[in-house]
Amino acid sequence: MTIRYVSTRGAAPSLDFEQVLLTGLAADGGLYVPDQLPEFSLEQIRSWRELDYPSLALEILQPFVEGSIPREDLKTILADTYRDFRHSAVAPLQQLDTNQWVLELFHGPTLAFKDFALQLLGRLLDYMLERRQQKIVIMGATSGDTGSAAIEGCRRCKNIDIFILHPHDAVSDVQRRQMTTVAGDNIHNIALQGNFDDCQAMVKSSFVAPDFLPDGRSLVAVNSINWARIMAQIVYYFYSALALGGPDRPVNFSVPTGNFGDIFAGYLARQMGLPIDRLVIATNRNDVLHQVLETGTYRRLPLEKSLSPSMDITVSSNFERLMFDMYHRDGSVIAQLMDTFASGEIELDASAMAEARGLFASHRVSDALTCQTIARVWSDCGYLLDPHSAIGVAAAGACALGDGNPMVTLATAHPAKFPDAISAAGVLSSPELPAHLADLFEREERYTVLENQLSTVQTFMAEHCSA
Ligand SMILES: *Cc1c(COP(=O)(O)O)cnc(C)c1O
Repeated sequence: MTIRYVSTRGAAPSLDFEQVLLTGLAADGGLYVPDQLPEFSLEQIRSWRELDYPSLALEILQPFVEGSIPREDLKTILADTYRDFRHSAVAPLQQLDTNQWVLELFHGPTLAFKDFALQLLGRLLDYMLERRQQKIVIMGATSGDTGSAAIEGCRRCKNIDIFILHPHDAVSDVQRRQMTTVAGDNIHNIALQGNFDDCQAMVKSSFVAPDFLPDGRSLVAVNSINWARIMAQIVYYFYSALALGGPDRPVNFSVPTGNFGDIFAGYLARQMGLPIDRLVIATNRNDVLHQVLETGTYRRLPLEKSLSPSMDITVSSNFERLMFDMYHRDGSVIAQLMDTFASGEIELDASAMAEARGLFASHRVSDALTCQTIARVWSDCGYLLDPHSAIGVAAAGACALGDGNPMVTLATAHPAKFPDAISAAGVLSSPELPAHLADLFEREERYTVLENQLSTVQTFMAEHCSA
């Protein structure tokens, strides 16, 4: 079986894995999804119980790259990707209560779950580019988290220059330092004299007309619409379920959700044969997805700042991937719906919604409940949750499914990244940065402050691409 990738809006050419890796949005504005999924039998899944993380990843991901990457090469890439995670289990489980678990996804270099995908993405891109004798430029805007994970993912990539824009003086010191202290001639941090929206607007304009780059180099996006990022995240659903008695016992997951990328990977794991009963969409006050599930109406909401900034979103772009399945993979219907959505709100089909509610539950968690949850889990278990993970734990409790299945909350970030939320929760212990980041505040920073003008930024980029 060779998987091809098709657009959710049905009007862009289908691609193989190599092509989809190097593509962001499809030409018709849609997102790429596999035209078929590998399906694993219970017996096959059971046979993976003893595998370590990279070996399990190899079994699960190989079908997705078939025809583009030989198994031996994928094996090498995966071993290299997860070698530097600080916990030898890569994604360890912690028990909070009889049937409550936390899956720690923050042992990668930037202490957030995005490392699982971006560490792999950087290596896959570099592997492909080396083979094609091609160089590319990655450009992104960040208000904090994704930027550092992308930079860490690309730091050793010979064929990639990465330019990350952040609003000058508007990201936290820890977040800025996680980006600007990474050494590498291919890493370029730009502090823009503007706000986050200005940064994003510049990235958008650059993607529309990338011809300012030298030698016709192409511009690649690493945001969560890139298929390879979703793919990488499927693995830890299998890994944790296997550790808890799966596939012979169904497992539920609670996922702190923003762009719907992480939880969509859980949905795919289920489609591929992993017994998952329910997936809980845990949102902060930016609750677009909770509202969709409750009412069937999908609409854009104004952005509200919360204690969990990585989940502060107005639209969950990856939700379109689920909609594609809800509408029986009819791209023309999705194209029409998204067209309407661009200028207003849409009502989703009632029977499709009913089906979605059988699989997804959802809960919105306030800042107050986030703090209470951090404080409660700290006093009950001596375990410190970051605010995003706390939302997952709170939603898991609120949705109490009563089905006797283990409930696994994805812990998406390390508490040391969000000391303000920890102290807002009244927890006196201040979380320490792990050893590899302990000297973060002594390291040399490298970034360039640029005025808020597109031509200035583009000229800087053109001049600083490596030879
Ligand atoms: C990105 C992020 C999320 C949200 O994940 P999505 O895939 O966008 O739903 C949650 N928590 C943390 C810490 C993140 O960085």
